[in-house]
Amino acid sequence: MLEEFNARRVQIGTPADKVSEMRQVEEFGDIRNQGFCVHCGGLNETNDHMPSKVFLDKPYPENLPVSPACAKCNEGFSRDEEYLACLLECVIAGEVNPDGIGRESISRKLRNQPALAARLAAARRLDGETVAWDAETDRVRSVLVKLARGHAAFELNEPQLDAPLSVRFAPLTSLTPDQRDAFEQEQVAPAIWPEVGSRAMSRLMVVGDEVFEEGWLLVQEDRYRYRVLQDDGLRVKIVIREYLAAEVQWK
Ligand SMILES: [Zn+2]
Repeated sequence: MLEEFNARRVQIGTPADKVSEMRQVEEFGDIRNQGFCVHCGGLNETNDHMPSKVFLDKPYPENLPVSPACAKCNEGFSRDEEYLACLLECVIAGEVNPDGIGRESISRKLRNQPALAARLAAARRLDGETVAWDAETDRVRSVLVKLARGHAAFELNEPQLDAPLSVRFAPLTSLTPDQRDAFEQEQVAPAIWPEVGSRAMSRLMVVGDEVFEEGWLLVQEDRYRYRVLQDDGLRVKIVIREYLAAEVQWK
């Protein structure tokens, strides 16, 4: 997949039939996998919203997933998350001007943080007739791994402290129809059963004799959805703002 953000005005819309709303699913997984920072294995000093609220708008959804984190990790990711949330809005708008930005909270950030706005403006360039953006891919990657770690811990009760095998991301619109189908992948039967008591186990659906994973979890419409799969290793798929598609894989 490409790692470049091709700027164009994109049609924003969630395939509503492919997602399920967040619902409260209690967790009864192995407590040995709990009680430590899901990013570094350090102390559980705070509960991190997963995703962070910078990717969502008010009113925030109820039952927002949380993952244990140490204060340092919680603090450390927030600038990069803010950067990514702002970058995505600028890419979608095709500009950095706060007046043209779709999300009010992000317009406000761009107004109040001139350094951030200037950095984003410097990343915008004209590529022929098209606007293109030079994304700071290390920061984007670090945020995606952080989010994926949180989702894996929350859904599967399987914190992944190792470095992932791969981190891929690209605009949804840049995927070919086949890639898009493979990425969206509707219901699939799990190859490996999730841990008994984990949320993923509770989300399995039984239809006749077959068992399916519940599919995409919609945290907030047009803002954030994710999915955790245990077929080819452990994969976490994330779509932010119906624009950025990401897949983080562990073995
Ligand atoms: Zn930590």
